[in-house]
Amino acid sequence: VIEIRNLHKAYGSLEVLRGVDVTARRGDVVSLIGSSGSGKSTLLRCCNLLEDSQQGEILFKGEPVRWKGEGHARRPADAKQVLRMRTNLSMVFQQFNLWAHMTILQNVMEAPLTVLGRPRAEVEEAARGYLAKVGIGDKCDAYPAQLSGGQQQRAAIARGLCMEPEALLFDEPTSALDPELEQEVVKVIKSLAEEGRTMIIVTHDMKMAHDVSDHVVFLHKGLIEEEGPPATLFGAPKSERLQGFLKSTT
Ligand code: ATP
Ligand code: MG
Repeated sequence: VIEIRNLHKAYGSLEVLRGVDVTARRGDVVSLIGSSGSGKSTLLRCCNLLEDSQQGEILFKGEPVRWKGEGHARRPADAKQVLRMRTNLSMVFQQFNLWAHMTILQNVMEAPLTVLGRPRAEVEEAARGYLAKVGIGDKCDAYPAQLSGGQQQRAAIARGLCMEPEALLFDEPTSALDPELEQEVVKVIKSLAEEGRTMIIVTHDMKMAHDVSDHVVFLHKGLIEEEGPPATLFGAPKSERLQGFLKSTT
């Protein structure tokens, strides 16, 4: 679904991604791990073109992003293509980003109604279904502030699902949560993995990365230091940096 080839990204003179390749095929769960500042969030945001990049290719369902300009002036050339990618790659953030003045149901219905223009009755049925699926079907009429952090994050996941995306992109979905609430969200992410959703997950939770991923990528200073299936990466890490990183997280 998403393929990144030799991606380079700098903020001014600060090189944050220095030639990164990542592929998520249909049904793949790819986790991105690495120390703070290694470029994980930046890479995720490049996937749906929330960030510009200066070099390298991004393919969505085999279709390369078309660019205009070069280097720091490089931008996506085709606004329709950008919209198609954004609506098909649902992003879930650490801080939920729910609209405080809308009920949970309205939050989940908003983008399918306004961005996709789907019929209200159909969207409402789908939204209620996804809220039930993530275990908060009884919270439709509550406002975000009335929910626990774990419930808010599950609402944010339902909102992502209601766009019927090709893939979900998660940026530290459990980092803002207390351990017991974290597990509710991990459970939902596991169930999505089991039903074959394509996902790219930036996480500090090595247990979740181990349990849900098909492929784990360890980033270090904007380069892939090591990658592989979770059993190998966590069970027999080759790079000393990865060994050190895994020690520091347990
Ligand atoms: P964390 O685990 O702390 O979330 P990360 O791996 O997600 O870290 P990024 O957020 O991708 O790291 O940041 C990579 C580098 O880019 C950091 O050095 C950061 O300071 C820098 N950076 C990120 N966003 C910007 C920005 N908008 N402008 C300038 N520099 C930025
Ligand atoms: Mg980050």
